[in-house]
Amino acid sequence: MPFSFANVDGRACLVEKESYFDLERISQGSISPDPMRAIAQNDEFREIAASLRSQEKDGIISEATLCAPIPRPRNSFGVGLNYKDHAEESKMDLPTVPVVFTKYPSCITGPFDDVQLRGDSNDYEAELVVVIGRTTRDVPSDQAWSHIAGLTIGQDISDRGLQLAARPAHFGLGKSRDTYGPTGPLLVSPDSFADPNDLSITCDVNGDRRQDARTSSLIFDVPFLVSYLSEIMTLEAGDLIFTGTPAGVGMPDSRFLNSGDVITTEIEGIGVMENVCR
Ligand code: ZN
Repeated sequence: MPFSFANVDGRACLVEKESYFDLERISQGSISPDPMRAIAQNDEFREIAASLRSQEKDGIISEATLCAPIPRPRNSFGVGLNYKDHAEESKMDLPTVPVVFTKYPSCITGPFDDVQLRGDSNDYEAELVVVIGRTTRDVPSDQAWSHIAGLTIGQDISDRGLQLAARPAHFGLGKSRDTYGPTGPLLVSPDSFADPNDLSITCDVNGDRRQDARTSSLIFDVPFLVSYLSEIMTLEAGDLIFTGTPAGVGMPDSRFLNSGDVITTEIEGIGVMENVCR
């Protein structure tokens, strides 16, 4: 049974259609209310998800305060230049190994939270985000999906001026200002999708479509990235991997974000995030 997981006002919940169910309550206390502890118990979610129809709901998702599904990841990785058309618009050679940087966990914020802009060259990057589901070390790519709790949406908001201020560029700092990592609204288990390797991803700014791609165009796909990183370091439940952004970012034409701009990011089967720039 697939599941959708949400952080409703700081509490771990499962979601069925429009309703949410508090995990601690419906599990009679066996699942932690803390989303960070609960996600490490995601092996138990499928059985609970199968019983939701006989449970009383705690509320309606559209009326809930949704926070980042994984609010305090231990590690948070970003992957640069992972779509061919984005590497070309960035005037960079196609990578032969994944270009990995740290998206510092302190930048993670919720799916409807404001982005507090600093500087005048800030950019949007719609991304599929992988959430690791268990301790993962040296996993081959053909087994990688079984180590993934689910997929969510991310915005890899980037201060280009800061990112490119150093040579070589310091991606980590430029992409990690406070609030520069909106994620959510749901964490959706891989078996929820007909093909989790091929999802539509879009980004609109003030209703103007800027990015429109499919995750099947990733140069290094999700199983490869998990396998690759797991050979370097042990991954743990709740670790995030921002998998890279397709073409259409603002930098090539200097179409940077301004206060009041509304960023709408959507991935098929996961939902929509909306973040206002301040
Ligand atoms: Zn990115």
